[in-house]
Amino acid sequence: MNAPFNARLATSPDVFASVLGPDAASRDSYRRAMMQAVDVALENAHVHDRPYAGNRLEDLMGLVDSIEPFPDTGLGTATIIDEVGRLAVRHALAVSHPRAVAHLHCPVAVPALAAEALISVTNQSLDSWDQSPFATLVEERVVRWLAAEAGLGEAASGSFTSGASQSNMTALHLAAERCGLAARHTGVIFTSAHAHFSVVKSARILGFAADAVVTVDVDSEGRMRPEALSAGIEKAIQAGRPVVAIVATAGTTDLGAIDPLEAIADLADRHGIFLHVDAAYGGGLLFSRHKKRLAGLERARSIALDFHKMLFQPISCGVLLVADKADFLPLGMKADYLNPEEAVFEGAPNLVEHSFQTTRRADALKVLMTARALGRDGLDALICRTLENASAAAEAVTARAYLELARQPSLSTVVFRTVSASSPEDADEKTNRIRARLFETGVAALATTVLDGRVHFKLTLLNPRSTPDVVNRVLDAIGDVAKDMETNNAD
Ligand SMILES: *Cc1c(COP(=O)(O)O)cnc(C)c1O
Repeated sequence: MNAPFNARLATSPDVFASVLGPDAASRDSYRRAMMQAVDVALENAHVHDRPYAGNRLEDLMGLVDSIEPFPDTGLGTATIIDEVGRLAVRHALAVSHPRAVAHLHCPVAVPALAAEALISVTNQSLDSWDQSPFATLVEERVVRWLAAEAGLGEAASGSFTSGASQSNMTALHLAAERCGLAARHTGVIFTSAHAHFSVVKSARILGFAADAVVTVDVDSEGRMRPEALSAGIEKAIQAGRPVVAIVATAGTTDLGAIDPLEAIADLADRHGIFLHVDAAYGGGLLFSRHKKRLAGLERARSIALDFHKMLFQPISCGVLLVADKADFLPLGMKADYLNPEEAVFEGAPNLVEHSFQTTRRADALKVLMTARALGRDGLDALICRTLENASAAAEAVTARAYLELARQPSLSTVVFRTVSASSPEDADEKTNRIRARLFETGVAALATTVLDGRVHFKLTLLNPRSTPDVVNRVLDAIGDVAKDMETNNAD
């Protein structure tokens, strides 16, 4: 005969204390684990002055393969924090290192890190009010504040997302639902040639035809050309194709270019087209004195903002704002167990009706805690510093004879290449090799991208604790490696 459950399970009390409950043992285990995790993070981050000080790819693969994920007998929380936790920090890209300047990948604000701990320990889920009584209302409060900051009206609403990929996809779904099913077969979505690839990916996921996304030409600074958009719209109308949406970009991923939002909004208004603005990157300007550069944003029907880019939030943290909450109706499916037709809690919002997701993190809390902790002045100072660093970097590039600046920076990215006597193909290849060498030697983590058909370096300067000196060091290192490669080639 089987023993009663209790008798069998009572044999390993430690296992039960490892699930947090109201009892002293599990609370103590939680406190010790969190303190230890913080210590491991502090002791193992920045032990070398390098953005990447971990193993090279092959060795790292071997190391990770050697970790047995599921031993028969558990090793215990303390052992695992010390062992796996330490490795995770040591072999991480140090995003807060000033020479980690590759991607739209920011250092994190301390109030947001504290908020993360509270988000995970309370483990609220935003799908229904009864699973997140305070957090649901916090998201609504933060969304109302963000909508007002973006200049949207009283009817606005929104929902936190995993980031702009999800925000863009949701926006395109809402736009498509407005046009009916046929729109997915013949509809057109206009976006610029420099728009984020998630626009095309979303269209494919949402069942649009392969030719649905029409890319509009950009000007020399990478901004959508409204005349080209206008011509494209006329052409679509003549061909009898419904125009589902215009996706403008406020801050392109490479150049930080901000599309001419007013002129685009004029066209959207004239033709009654859904205007979505992907402000994943440039939306950060809303929290700075440079907000005016986003004039026209308030005329969008939906807006994507990412806080894990310019706003120092731990991943993931984005929001989709809509100008009219009625646009969320297509996501308003009812589930008997969650948000029944007959409301159980009268007047309580169930935010599952704003999202593709069901279970969803309470990420608005970290934005609230960061914004309230730092205030308008604080965020402005941090953001402006990153923009100043980019201007200084552009000057430093220009001042070096071996470098060539591609464009004046618009936000905090700086795109340039090395001047090369060799063929353009050789120069492209060399740029990639320099990038890899700088990463592997831990000198700098920088990016490459293709502009005007050629490989360029890209610095993304999201770190307000960086300085022009740091950037100078990176540019010097590029010169040194380039020279070194030339010397070795000549041998
Ligand atoms: C980063 C980025 C995205 C993708 O956002 P995720 O948060 O990574 O999903 C979309 N659009 C632009 C302009 C971006 O810079």
